[in-house]
Amino acid sequence: MNGRYRVVGIDYVAEALRYVRAPKVRGDLRRLPFPEKSFDLVLCCEVLEHLDDSMYETVLSELIRVARKYILITVPNNEDLNLFYYKCPECGTKFNPFGHLRSFTLGKLRALFSGPRKGRMECLEAREIGPVPVRPQNVFLSRFRLEKFGHWSNNPEAVCPNCGCFGNSARLPLALRLYGFALRLANAVLNPRKIPRATWLLAVYRLERVKEGPFSRACAGFAPSFERASKGGTKPNGRTSFPAANPPGG
Ligand SMILES: [Zn+2]
Repeated sequence: MNGRYRVVGIDYVAEALRYVRAPKVRGDLRRLPFPEKSFDLVLCCEVLEHLDDSMYETVLSELIRVARKYILITVPNNEDLNLFYYKCPECGTKFNPFGHLRSFTLGKLRALFSGPRKGRMECLEAREIGPVPVRPQNVFLSRFRLEKFGHWSNNPEAVCPNCGCFGNSARLPLALRLYGFALRLANAVLNPRKIPRATWLLAVYRLERVKEGPFSRACAGFAPSFERASKGGTKPNGRTSFPAANPPGG
């Protein structure tokens, strides 16, 4: 970030780290390889929805452990995981094609660090971001398609988490794929207009012992820049600058 901030990226997958233009570490979110209070701001984007119950609480605790002042989190907005899944043609496992295991609402995100962690983190700001045009899904047609064809749409990159079967829809017989296409077409006729929908949620939390600073005062101003970055089809990059919680050298 123009050398004004010291940034460290972390991911479990080496391939993902190839795209990180900053000092980076390959590591496990359950055991972050950093001492306590290492970072003024911990950024955790599009991660929590992928965590199963065995990891979830541990990861939240790790985020708090390495944060000195703030945590910023983004997740998909209110996904209906019961409507959007694939059924593996090989082993029958039902799975979300994006690997999403949990869904968040604004209220749930706001209360993310309450409960056992209550008193340590407060939510400064939680809001919907987007919006992007999305075609509404007819629930009846979606359920019918799931029951008959075991998939919600043709995402050839979906990989079964159980057996590794790759490209679900490509393996379906042609007749079923055509039938699925007809149902998608019917849905497009029933819902001809795409409707703007806030596709993501964003929340900022502050350790309660931290006094109000420039970052928290500027919170109301940064979400629009994130929206612009999201609309452009890219994730926020170095150009989307967040005010420093602590000026360099300060
Ligand atoms: Zn499978």
